[in-house]
Amino acid sequence: MIAYCDAERCVEAGCRPTLCTGAGLRSNTEIFDRSCQAIPGGVNSSIRAFKAVGGSPYVVARAAGPYVFDVEGKRYLDLVQSYGAVILGHAHPAITAAVSAAAADGTSFGAPTPREMKLAEAISERVPSCERVRLMNSGTEATSTAIRLARGVTGRDLIMTFNGNFHGATDALLVAGGSGVATLGLPGTAGIPDATVSNTMIAPYNVVPVLNDRIAAVIVEPVAGNMGVVAPAPGFLAGLRAECDRVGALLIFDEVITGFRLGTGGAQAKFDIRPDITCFGKVIGGGLPIGAVGGSAAVMEELTPLGKVFQSGTLAGNPIATAAGLAALDLLTEDVYMELMARTRRVAGVLRDACAAAGLTVQFPVVGTLMGMYFGSGDLPTNFDEAKTTNEREFAAFFQAGLAEGIAFAPGAYEAVFVGLGHDDVVIDELAVLVNAAATRAVASLG
Ligand SMILES: *Cc1c(COP(=O)(O)O)cnc(C)c1O
Repeated sequence: MIAYCDAERCVEAGCRPTLCTGAGLRSNTEIFDRSCQAIPGGVNSSIRAFKAVGGSPYVVARAAGPYVFDVEGKRYLDLVQSYGAVILGHAHPAITAAVSAAAADGTSFGAPTPREMKLAEAISERVPSCERVRLMNSGTEATSTAIRLARGVTGRDLIMTFNGNFHGATDALLVAGGSGVATLGLPGTAGIPDATVSNTMIAPYNVVPVLNDRIAAVIVEPVAGNMGVVAPAPGFLAGLRAECDRVGALLIFDEVITGFRLGTGGAQAKFDIRPDITCFGKVIGGGLPIGAVGGSAAVMEELTPLGKVFQSGTLAGNPIATAAGLAALDLLTEDVYMELMARTRRVAGVLRDACAAAGLTVQFPVVGTLMGMYFGSGDLPTNFDEAKTTNEREFAAFFQAGLAEGIAFAPGAYEAVFVGLGHDDVVIDELAVLVNAAATRAVASLG
């Protein structure tokens, strides 16, 4: 007899909860080890393997609101929220209903649908720079399409990107840069020929680079969310806009994180800068796979079938993902963002207090509804070189202590902390208790 059965936990073929004998239930490590025999490293996105923090990952059976539950039934107060994609909290009833309704109408057709029309309209209405929106399946697709589009529109090859910004697994943007001034990028991973990044320049974040008329586009995270959370310095985004205009380059905002997280208008509304092209992902899919590129009609209509810049996708504009995204955007009103900002500040305060009381040196920078962690004293980082001074060993100890106490942070020192609508006051009170224990535990483990 088993006390708890869940088909998601059970690895027996054909298991159904009512019939389950419990024989197929496995621990986190058993499932992860078995996954490693089928999936390289046991994961479908590298960070999930815990290489940066050590140990072996929890394997998720299900999630609800602010919590995820692993296959052993252990509950974690989740501050990953699918890296921000699940802003409403897990298994939100509005998303579940939208997904079920859409699934019953068929999952993909290879033809236009009203749902994709509505999501594109919903984005355009909220983000004025996006007069036209093309939907795809991931943020990675969005950034690679945006780069192709910018090159096609301008007839130029060079792209400028910023050290410490992340734009997904897009070859031309997986570059490593040096310190200091803008340099030609080097491949940021094996498998990328020098030639693939020979047209990618890389510059330090928060310094407006001097551009020239060979540059097609500058792509930037308007609030950096992948080197911890780093705010744009005053004048940085406006300076980029002006410098792009001076040389006729396009300005691409990668709002895959910030879009519909900082507010209905994203970072471009918050900082009042109009980019030429915007990339979206994460929130706009309500937790389902999605990406989008938006811009003026003139720029966007350079995409095929109207223009000469190719784009396609078998599952692009998927009816289930667009239904989930629409359901999310419908609920994300200005009031909700005000509330989310207040909660983000509260969560940051709770984390700060617990760490200070335990004697951990860590800061939790907040930009609107985004929060980072920086294990260091003094000024907050403004670029990647500074962000890298975070104490990764202390982060790993805090991360592991969090897990032990039932808090899930993203397993990397440079990831954001994601607060969502599931984190209400009661949950934040609970977080305060858990994080006090976690901070004490982390300090003890550091010796
Ligand atoms: C997550 C992310 C991406 C990539 O999106 P995927 O959906 O994972 O491909 C691109 N840019 C930024 C800023 C991101 O945070």
